[in-house]
Amino acid sequence: MEGSEVQAWGLSISSAALTRVAKLARYEELGIIFAHSHPEGVADFSEQDDREEQRLLPFFQARVPDRMHGTLVLTQDSIRGRLYVPERTPADAVVVIGQRFRQWTSTSAEDPEPIYDRQVRAFGKEIQHVLKHLHVGIVGLGGTGSPLAEQLCRLGVGHLSFFDGDTLDPTNVNRVYGSAIADKDRAKVHIAKERLDAIGLGTKIDAHDEHITFETTARALRDCDITFGCTDKELPRAILTQLCLRYCIPVIDLGVLIDSQDGVISGVYGRVTTLIPGEACLFCRGRISAEGIRVEALSEVDRSAQVLDGYAPELQEPAPAVIPFTSATASAAVCEFLHRLTGFMGSERLSSEVLLAIDQSRIRTNRLQPREGCVCGDESFWGLGDCSPFLDMVWPTRTS
Ligand SMILES: [Zn+2]
Ligand SMILES: [Zn+2]
Repeated sequence: MEGSEVQAWGLSISSAALTRVAKLARYEELGIIFAHSHPEGVADFSEQDDREEQRLLPFFQARVPDRMHGTLVLTQDSIRGRLYVPERTPADAVVVIGQRFRQWTSTSAEDPEPIYDRQVRAFGKEIQHVLKHLHVGIVGLGGTGSPLAEQLCRLGVGHLSFFDGDTLDPTNVNRVYGSAIADKDRAKVHIAKERLDAIGLGTKIDAHDEHITFETTARALRDCDITFGCTDKELPRAILTQLCLRYCIPVIDLGVLIDSQDGVISGVYGRVTTLIPGEACLFCRGRISAEGIRVEALSEVDRSAQVLDGYAPELQEPAPAVIPFTSATASAAVCEFLHRLTGFMGSERLSSEVLLAIDQSRIRTNRLQPREGCVCGDESFWGLGDCSPFLDMVWPTRTS
């Protein structure tokens, strides 16, 4: 590193270099993470690290007072972190988002409970520790979200958060797991929570019975380690796209499409797209668009007027939906999630989208880089965190 000098007992950084970093952080409103490695030493902070931080962190805090700062120590096979909030606090976990999703927790792995025996035989003991410490968000508890929630719960994910403002319509019973005709008009998130609580695995479940298009609900997404997009609307997908970029929270987005004319099927497609910074987003991939979001936001009256004037496409009948197709797509999404955690599909499997042509018994995969000019390719947003307005989006004000 420029401006550093190696001494007999370690490494120190010149104050000119520190000043430069602090200046940049202050200008760009960034937090500073000071990272160093212990190539052969202990996998934790040393006494010398403690002393060094007592000198370093107050300097960062004084120069960049409104941001949170921290430190990382890396060894061959672990990462430990500390945050200054403003006092020194060990980080519960350090999460690495890339081809693999990895998480280093401050607690050491305990033996998994015997009920997970059959899974441990497949993936090994470590996976249960990882799953237990994950907080997974599911946006939409319908045809794809409900089987997904059921699978994640039974796999042993420790904390689930459900987001959905819809109540159950009797036509949902055909594909919403855990729902009954008697649940008509109940919030889908409460139906799901009740069912999964009854499984008895001790899963912590937060049920948000409001759509993430409301700011207060969307803010709760920040606490998730990973989220699944199981909605058929464009605006929630745009919100998840921004969340992924600005908070480095991976999003696994699902969609199901049935082409059917007068009761004759010509195609059944399932899609699972994994969003992480550096991969093409849902805008680049043409899955959502600013125009689609605009039209979706129109009131019925405005929409009818715009259809007449040719400014909006005709309102569609409810799309067809059938339980094996929604469930198959949910299962494919859980497989992607497990692959990111364990790599079980092999290190050469780098695709970020899976396309199921269910009517043809075919599966294809692809991987795309961000399209030039798309928001997802602008690295200055990656991991930026909180800003005002939240996610740099316009949020509706509540009328009630
Ligand atoms: Zn050290
Ligand atoms: Zn993009």
